[in-house]
Amino acid sequence: MPYVIIYMVIHLKNFFDFTFLEFIDYLEKNGYKKYNALQIFDWIYKKRENNFDNMSNLSKNLRFFLKNNLKLNSLKILKYEKSIDTYKFLFQLDDKEYIESVLMIHNYGKSVCISTQVGCNMGCSFCESGKLKKRRNLNFYEMNEQLFLIEITLNIKINSVVLMGIGEPFDNYENVLKFIKHINDSKTFEIGARHITVSTCGIVPKIIQFSNEEIQANLAISLHASNDTLRNKLMKINKVYSIKEIMDSLKYYIKKTNRRVTIEYLLLCNINDYDYNAFELANLLKGLNVYVNLIPYNETSKSIYQKSKKVQILKFYDILKKNNINVTIRKEFGKEISAACGQLRSKEVDK
Ligand code: SAH
Repeated sequence: MPYVIIYMVIHLKNFFDFTFLEFIDYLEKNGYKKYNALQIFDWIYKKRENNFDNMSNLSKNLRFFLKNNLKLNSLKILKYEKSIDTYKFLFQLDDKEYIESVLMIHNYGKSVCISTQVGCNMGCSFCESGKLKKRRNLNFYEMNEQLFLIEITLNIKINSVVLMGIGEPFDNYENVLKFIKHINDSKTFEIGARHITVSTCGIVPKIIQFSNEEIQANLAISLHASNDTLRNKLMKINKVYSIKEIMDSLKYYIKKTNRRVTIEYLLLCNINDYDYNAFELANLLKGLNVYVNLIPYNETSKSIYQKSKKVQILKFYDILKKNNINVTIRKEFGKEISAACGQLRSKEVDK
């Protein structure tokens, strides 16, 4: 008997690893109907019922099948910290690795920042995530479950998703694309493609590939420097793909999709926040359909950089504005709960 139980546990499939079409296929192969897939997706994603026994409109036989073949959770919320407008979640994965997500409450809706890898190999000098090298990519279901668990734990509806947590999304391209299409599906979270943003450090071939996908999601580029000498120092990836190559790929993306790109620019005191950096940046972006999001640096105990002074942030903003570049300054969320990329996981691993 124990062997049977062990066999069953090992062979359970994860419900969150199925897209809607894959789930129809799975049910049909097991003798059930397409409308059963609709019913089950409705119970889980819309009614947020995570116990098959309570799915009252399903036959006993189907409930028995689901219970014996599917599991409904692999991620565990290890802890979550809350401040006024931010919740930070630390998850433990099946293989005991850690990842994190951040929920931000804006006045226009709730937005979640999702991790895409365990650790990161991009090695940006200012980023906590990269201090812990990439251990592996996240599976599709692990990204999916981050959203589901946050919704069900806080009993909320998430309105937008940014792929800006731990990891480089374009270094886990297939899973990330599948995830974007899945959360956009009306049978699941139904998050409008225009409310989904992928942020990349600038992996040029993937920017080109992403331009060719028939998907309306937003693209953001972590530029953080106005010339190659500076960017080479801050971001290792620049030695592979230069600013010129990134700009060319963005022009291609804009031409192909007719969509505006977000340029993220982290402001580091006396490193990349001089007036001439703002002029250089304006020159680089002149005439392009982009907008710049200036990011105040979130310092950590291990940081080798400091946050720019407020007057310098405003000056940088003014220079861009006067040069006809659309620009905003990012609101700082959750400073008091280590909400910048990778900080919570880093603390946990240090322990
Ligand atoms: N790898 C992707 C997405 C993850 S990082 C990328 O590079 O875009 C998400 C964003 O947070 C990036 O723009 C990154 O540069 C920025 N970031 C990293 N550490 C930060 C910190 N301490 N304070 C503020 N932003 C930070």
